[in-house]
Amino acid sequence: MNRLFSLLLLIVSLPVIAQAQSSVPKPIVIKNVNIIPMTLDNKVIENATVVIEGNKIVSINKPAPSSAKVIDGKGKWLIPGLIDMHIHGLADIDFGKKYPTKGATLFADNQDVMTPYVATGVTTIFDLNARVENFGQRNEIIKGKIIGPRMAMAALIEGEDGNGRIATTPSDGRQSVRMAKAEGYEFIKVYSRLNIETYKAIIDEAFLQGMKVIGHIPNDFEGKVEGAFVPHFDMVAHAEEFFKQTDDLSEKKAQYFAKLCKDNGTWLTPTLIVNESIAEQYRSLDSIRNVEGFKYAIPLMQNKWITSNQYNKASSPQKIAGNEKRIEFNKRLVKAFKEADVPIVAGTDAGTSGIVWGFSLHDEIALLVEAGLTPEEALISATRLPATWLGIADKIGTIEEGKFADLVLLDANPLTDIYNTRKIAGVFFNGRWIDKATIIKMLSDLEKRNTIKTEKDDWSKRKDY
Ligand SMILES: [Zn+2]
Repeated sequence: MNRLFSLLLLIVSLPVIAQAQSSVPKPIVIKNVNIIPMTLDNKVIENATVVIEGNKIVSINKPAPSSAKVIDGKGKWLIPGLIDMHIHGLADIDFGKKYPTKGATLFADNQDVMTPYVATGVTTIFDLNARVENFGQRNEIIKGKIIGPRMAMAALIEGEDGNGRIATTPSDGRQSVRMAKAEGYEFIKVYSRLNIETYKAIIDEAFLQGMKVIGHIPNDFEGKVEGAFVPHFDMVAHAEEFFKQTDDLSEKKAQYFAKLCKDNGTWLTPTLIVNESIAEQYRSLDSIRNVEGFKYAIPLMQNKWITSNQYNKASSPQKIAGNEKRIEFNKRLVKAFKEADVPIVAGTDAGTSGIVWGFSLHDEIALLVEAGLTPEEALISATRLPATWLGIADKIGTIEEGKFADLVLLDANPLTDIYNTRKIAGVFFNGRWIDKATIIKMLSDLEKRNTIKTEKDDWSKRKDY
């Protein structure tokens, strides 16, 4: 080997070695923190010591290694990272020529999409209409190129043109499930316009493929909703799915629906925030502009929610009244499901108009409390229960030794006031500590970028819309 070549080799390899050394992070110890573990007994562990090494919680109340970086947890509260069980994510797809404006071809920067989750302690998301670009996005998170939540992905199957894959016969339904499985999706979402036989075939095939099913109750079941509750229909994606099925909005009817779910082992994601937000959008668009986190949403979506807001455009006194009824019935359903002991999980439908990723989960948790859950139950619905439904409760959802370090450090106790989930002092994403100062910086940088982009990303100028 000549000298020049060996010198080159050294130069090339040095940064790699340096990188390898610094990529083994120091252990971190949180001292004197109050842990709300979200385990079955969920006994608060006061003034505890938590050691995090790599991406795992390695010990609770055991001596910390002397090399550990110390975080003072005095007066603070530690909860598991939050899980949003109903989101519609964006990714860095290119809309290309559909834009009239030069330079606005990139839909969404992947880190910009994820930053609102980081800022709000949402460490796992369930995308209910995932697409191929979300796999690339997930890989970037896994490789540590960007910071973001764990992603569970459902392939959506619909009965007519619109969202997702289309299946109109049982054999097409089965094939759609098998293809989704082969492509790497973990879950199936069934949608409103599937016919009854196709719906049943999809659910049966998903079970054969080891995939759980979440979704809407297809319109064809109107008047015979019982028929939708076939074995392995695992979760209803919105409380309003029941509202659509009946004119009887009594407590008794809510209890009847709860029993249907209980008997079938079907869980519920109420997505209360959607109907609350729609109520506001019917009245005025100011509510959207003022919604927490709005300025951190992708500019194209900010623009779309304002310039082509379907709720605001189609508002009428009848629609407002109808939505109020739906909101009331949603609350009745949550109470009935709680009484019937049907698991309820927190989900937001983030990505639909006015619902900002990450921020909205804190609204949903508070609405669940307003509807009758205790703060503890609402927190369980956004931590342990979703982890259980997703089949990863051995890895996340509680604070225990050996679990992944997905954690949120709070300045105040969320068990006494659910609004304290918003008082975030820092977050751990897969063992990576992001303190408050970093969160503030990430958000202010994002806001700056969004302000520049907003002028270019005018949804109303899109040629295909
Ligand atoms: Zn949805």
